[in-house]
Amino acid sequence: MYQIIDGKKISQEIKDELKEQVAQLKAEGKSRCLAVVQVGNDPASGVYVNNKKKACEYIGIDSLSYELPEETNEEELLKLIGELNTREDVNGILVQLPVPKHIDEEKILLAIAPEKDVDGFHPVNVGNLSIGRPGYVSCTPAGIIQLLKRSGIEIEGKECVVLGRSNIVGKPMAMLLLRENGTVTVCHSRTKNLKEITKRADILVAAIGKPKFIDASYVKEGAVVIDVGIHRNENNKLCGDVDFDSVAPHCSAITPVPGGVGPMTIAMLMNNCVNGVL
Ligand code: NAP
Repeated sequence: MYQIIDGKKISQEIKDELKEQVAQLKAEGKSRCLAVVQVGNDPASGVYVNNKKKACEYIGIDSLSYELPEETNEEELLKLIGELNTREDVNGILVQLPVPKHIDEEKILLAIAPEKDVDGFHPVNVGNLSIGRPGYVSCTPAGIIQLLKRSGIEIEGKECVVLGRSNIVGKPMAMLLLRENGTVTVCHSRTKNLKEITKRADILVAAIGKPKFIDASYVKEGAVVIDVGIHRNENNKLCGDVDFDSVAPHCSAITPVPGGVGPMTIAMLMNNCVNGVL
């Protein structure tokens, strides 16, 4: 029988721990404040921003919300980030991605002060992670480490295979598993003999952005499978990169979609706001 790794429950535990911590900080006269900036009115971004604000409210983190019109130019956005960088009452800045096409996303991410970059996307934080120094860590992979640890799954010495090499999931995931002393292989679209590699994995993390791509033929008997993908099928039902029904019976533990990795991302963002670097 396989274990279902319950991201909903674990993320709630983390949020409740953070709530206590924030109450303690408040008693010492200290507060936490996240500035959330959204440019334009992409409906999906609107939902994400709202969820982040709600999580702040639950935990007791102050939040400042900047909803800028679609036609906001790069200079105006950079000016706002510059102001937030210098505000002592703001300890985290998040610009919801994607920004409209006329704004250079890289320039925006570079403008956020690394010590306020709670998303962990600034090159300084990415660099710190890769050389083993403290820094903000990208929230989704940081959440996956918490899912594993809090489910009693050991990483040290394990064969870990990460499918995907994006800057926000695959690469930081590989770095974090390495930091936990896993033996890590990263696969991508040019990888040859993919199944041979994934079948070696004690811990398999799928972040390829292809619905139900991973079936039982990719998975070793008894592996732990973490599904990062989020897709909506034709019936508007959510599914992941892993074909859960095919894979689950062969696993020792697996994350469902929804209710696995998804809820951890916001919990770790909140953790970054409260605790700073990981
Ligand atoms: P991405 O930027 O599209 O990266 C996908 C990666 O998968 C790339 O490195 C790509 O290789 C690789 N890939 C694509 N097809 C492949 C194949 N057939 N075989 C092997 N590798 C293949 O995606 P992402 O941003 O990392 O996100 C991945 C998934 O996670 C998406 O479904 C996304 O919606 C989801 N996601 C979820 C959360 C959450 O909170 N749960 C957060 C972020 C993302 P190349 O580099 O060679 O192109």
